[in-house]
Amino acid sequence: MASHQDANARNGRIDRRTALKAAGAMAAMPAMGWTVVVPTRAATAPPTPITPGRAAPSPADWQSLARSLTGDLLEVRSPLDVCRKDPHSARAEAVLENMRNPFFLEEQPGATHTTGWFNAFESAVSPRAIAAENARDIAAAVEFARQHDLKLVVKGTGHDYLGRSSAPNSILVWTHKMRDITVHDDFVPTGGDGAGVPAVTVAAGSRWLETYDAVTNHSGRFVQGGGCTSVGACGGFILGSGFGALSKRFGTGAGNMLEAEVVTADGKVLVVNEFQHSDLFWALRGGGGGTFGIVTRLTLRTHELPKILGGFMGHIKAKNDTAYRELIERFLRFYPDHINNPNWGETVKFTPENTLELSLIFIDLPEEQARKTWQPFLDWIDEHPDDYERDVEIVSVPFKDYWNIDFWLENYPALIQEDPRKDQPAGQFWWKTNDSAVSEYMYGYASRWIPLENFKDPAALARTFFDASRHWNFKLYVNKAMAGAAPEAVERDRRTCINPTVFDAAAWILMQASDTDVFPGVPGHEPDRTKAEILASRVASGIEVIRQATPGAGNYANEADYHEPDWQEAFWGTHYPRLLAIKKRYDPTGMFQTHHSVGSES
Ligand SMILES: Cc1cc2nc3c(=O)[nH]c(=O)nc-3n(C[C@H](O)[C@H](O)[C@H](O)COP(=O)(O)OP(=O)(O)OC[C@H]3O[C@@H](n4cnc5c(N)ncnc54)[C@H](O)[C@@H]3O)c2cc1C
Repeated sequence: MASHQDANARNGRIDRRTALKAAGAMAAMPAMGWTVVVPTRAATAPPTPITPGRAAPSPADWQSLARSLTGDLLEVRSPLDVCRKDPHSARAEAVLENMRNPFFLEEQPGATHTTGWFNAFESAVSPRAIAAENARDIAAAVEFARQHDLKLVVKGTGHDYLGRSSAPNSILVWTHKMRDITVHDDFVPTGGDGAGVPAVTVAAGSRWLETYDAVTNHSGRFVQGGGCTSVGACGGFILGSGFGALSKRFGTGAGNMLEAEVVTADGKVLVVNEFQHSDLFWALRGGGGGTFGIVTRLTLRTHELPKILGGFMGHIKAKNDTAYRELIERFLRFYPDHINNPNWGETVKFTPENTLELSLIFIDLPEEQARKTWQPFLDWIDEHPDDYERDVEIVSVPFKDYWNIDFWLENYPALIQEDPRKDQPAGQFWWKTNDSAVSEYMYGYASRWIPLENFKDPAALARTFFDASRHWNFKLYVNKAMAGAAPEAVERDRRTCINPTVFDAAAWILMQASDTDVFPGVPGHEPDRTKAEILASRVASGIEVIRQATPGAGNYANEADYHEPDWQEAFWGTHYPRLLAIKKRYDPTGMFQTHHSVGSES
């Protein structure tokens, strides 16, 4: 159906409308701080062709692109510009305050959640963005970039740790406005037959926030997404095999994908699933965001809602190194039979201060049963008061309230943060535990799967963990590995392109050192190089200890080191050659290129 805007364009009224929008955008600038609609008199240079010497698009070309869109063509600047130019102004302070809000970041085509990574990159702005409203806008952007030889990048929410959702001298497809969500009782993929399954279709800009609201709060079902409400439900998370807290029960995001609509490098809009373009469908399920095309919508399987959501939280502190080694070994002996199963998820942190910090969740276990599971372990701690002290608690809530903001405000208000800005949609919140990931600057960040095999020699693995913890703290995630997962989840994930070593891994380790108040180029917020060097080196030496003990263990791309060695093997293992062939088939000229993505080595 032709939109109101298309009609305006045909009637030659685009300039007046555009001018009005530009004026509106500028009037809003103190609050929004970022965009001007083009074509107006541009303040920043548009992107230029990748090939040196090729003619850049003319103003008329840009004008013509703007006219062809339902959405807007934007001139983009960093919201931090004001902090660089006038760091002590009230506006600069207001922007820095907003940079602590994940939803504000997502509303900025010129911002990303990671502000930079020591010795790797600094977040950079794509000078032009298409605020896409539908698949046709995205196809127009791809066509324009191809015709004019421009670098093209895609941003949904901008959560990518490796800075892949923006790039200097590029044109950005920004999907933020595409938020349609449809819940299905009986979804049958296009071209398929037989019985349908319950599912949800999310448009490219949807976040988990509104997806959980539609699926759980309004339809009483469960969809496997990420824990952070502001991460995208139709972008890098799913395309990069994202894991959620309950992935040991329900599998990865990619494993739950039933269908996708995708704009490929030739500007075509394809619907892909197991029945049509099944090779591309397989590649999209874990082959990485921004690599095989731009997904405009995708459909995910939904599941019966669990009944109980429990938490096992607290800490156990060892009073000396010997006791800590013993504690780690006890835990590693206990883990495979008691925790490595579909009922458990989330983390245990191993710190240099000889403490285990427990932040685990469980589903569909009555509190009493969860307590019984841990009792022998806790009894052993209590039998050694000279060596350990502990403070742990078990709580549970109805699972149906997991994403119900009113429930949390009423019962556990300290756990969540509502969007503090005026006039925001009701229910826009994030978990306080995610504060540390909003505008985060990385000193070091490295991760790895831990094979189940390693748990068969708990003494050796305990030595590894103890030695690694001397360098820096790290978290063991129960839910980001598939050995011990529910058989039906494993079966679904085996049909994706995730590195098959995940099925032999019982846990995933993340070692990370970062800060949130670091904004490269902003006076008073520059990275401290000395600190950065120390922390980067601690993470590098710590993960090396773990790497040495887990040869060939592998990893997944979404939450990996920028400097991941042998990344093709680490992220996709034996699947890499097939992924590369599919990449060449659908994107022969390498239009979609991001750091450490399939085909980026060439
Ligand atoms: C606070 C925080 C919490 C996180 N929690 C988890 C977690 O629990 N589990 C987990 O596995 N990961 C987690 N991640 C990592 C997350 O999975 C990745 O950063 C993921 O790539 C984010 O996808 P996005 O679309 O939201 O972000 P974006 O930065 O917008 O996109 C990420 C990548 O996907 C591409 N992309 C975006 N949209 C599209 C599209 N429509 N079509 C094609 N390519 C697209 C981008 O170009 C970019 O390369 C977390 C990250 C952060 C910052």
